[in-house]
Amino acid sequence: MLTKDLAICIRAIDYSETSQIVTFFAKAAGKIDAIAKGSKRPKSPFDGPIEVLSYGNIVFVDSAGEKLATLTEFQQQPTIINLHGNLFVLYACLFAAELMSNLTHDYDPHPELFDSFLEFLHNANQQHQTNNEQRDILALLILFQLTLLNEIGIQPILSHCVNCKTRYEIRDTRYEYYFSSSANGLICRDCEPSFPDKIRLTKGASVCLSSLKQIPYSDEKTLKEIEKVLVHHLTELLGRMPKMAKHILEN
Ligand SMILES: [Zn+2]
Repeated sequence: MLTKDLAICIRAIDYSETSQIVTFFAKAAGKIDAIAKGSKRPKSPFDGPIEVLSYGNIVFVDSAGEKLATLTEFQQQPTIINLHGNLFVLYACLFAAELMSNLTHDYDPHPELFDSFLEFLHNANQQHQTNNEQRDILALLILFQLTLLNEIGIQPILSHCVNCKTRYEIRDTRYEYYFSSSANGLICRDCEPSFPDKIRLTKGASVCLSSLKQIPYSDEKTLKEIEKVLVHHLTELLGRMPKMAKHILEN
């Protein structure tokens, strides 16, 4: 059966001299793995070799029980990626694509997640060249990662201590908060001894995580701290560190 969809390429590997195996995140179908026969030939039916983060309308033949679908058409839209942008933006987008590939299931539709992913790619590549650019990208990336976790049903609990339900109070300077991956959220000082995997958070990071609307206004140091916590959490979830994570943390 031929299926039409709007899709973003989140993974592409060479299969042969002329063909690729590509993973798309499609708006209606969810994640699909497909073989793109002849995609590397000079005159391919897919507007040239398929690259990660390219997007547009696809037509594919459903795999019907087999692992790979067959891609028959890919009308690529102009690239979202700002080719004159900085490398950190590209790393952030590739990191997001890697998470989409590793955290979603085949043929599990998430149209809103598709929209959030596309919006993230657009916004990250539209930033103006300012001194704060890296901060802006980190803020977008953090919010995207939390949206992704939310959409796949494993949203971390950030409004209160997961264990005793005490709400995080911004004004209360005594409050010291921790993040525990095993608890999937914030843990208060009273409860932290029971969670050996906890990571202590600065006040700035605690405020941001418990009130996500603060994230776009936070300083770069706080956002880096939060991203480090998220990478740790994602590493626990996936059982290994995402490949692109080091490029995000090192910069
Ligand atoms: Zn507690």
